[in-house]
Amino acid sequence: MHATEADCISSITIPFTLVDEYPDLRYSLSEDPLKTMAAGDEVLFNMIEDLNGSLRARIRVIGLPDTCAIEINSLRTRDRNRLLRIDVNVLDVNHNSGWIKKIDWHCLECRAVNHTSQKFLRGRIKPWKCCDCGKIRNRSTDFALDSESTSYEDCQQILIVDSNDENEGQRRVIDAWLFDELVGSVQKGDVIRINARLRLASTHPSGDFDATTLRAFQLQIESYEMLEPHEIDDEGQGNGEEE
Ligand SMILES: [Zn+2]
Repeated sequence: MHATEADCISSITIPFTLVDEYPDLRYSLSEDPLKTMAAGDEVLFNMIEDLNGSLRARIRVIGLPDTCAIEINSLRTRDRNRLLRIDVNVLDVNHNSGWIKKIDWHCLECRAVNHTSQKFLRGRIKPWKCCDCGKIRNRSTDFALDSESTSYEDCQQILIVDSNDENEGQRRVIDAWLFDELVGSVQKGDVIRINARLRLASTHPSGDFDATTLRAFQLQIESYEMLEPHEIDDEGQGNGEEE
């Protein structure tokens, strides 16, 4: 287990073999990875909060077993909500961006704060009913966004293909997303093993989830392991690793 700290994010990398020792944890991680990892982050957050209130924590599980291995060409909608292990080439890396993770809304009736967790690449969620005074949202009882306490998360889109050479010629390019301290850590040409979840994204140009029922595949990267770093275009240095 090792921890890295970037800005105010602390990530802890845990090998799957460690999870494997706890059948309940292994079961919940394979059945509902999102909820399980969020619960783990919460526990870690509370532990770290005792030490230093400014840290945010992320658990990154690596070393997934062969049962999680899949190729991009084989992805199907049934694979969503599973943890997937895919060896990929990074074709391109987009600019860093950010998304709104949580919003605090003030009830304009009683000023109470209503917390809303947002969903990545989905419409922004506003409360429909105040948690304190119970007023239902309408023109007179609306909610105002508290920009001070709104929390953001860094994200970055990368383009990937299967690294399996046998698939060359029919390799499919798909989008994958990196978050938090993983943003900026991958470069064009890297060969990485990603541990990811399949996302079904709107195919509508606006990204509006309600505008169409057709979905495109994307991957949300939970952790990755470097298989081969990109080749450095500098012949003079001669310190590249020979394979
Ligand atoms: Zn209220």
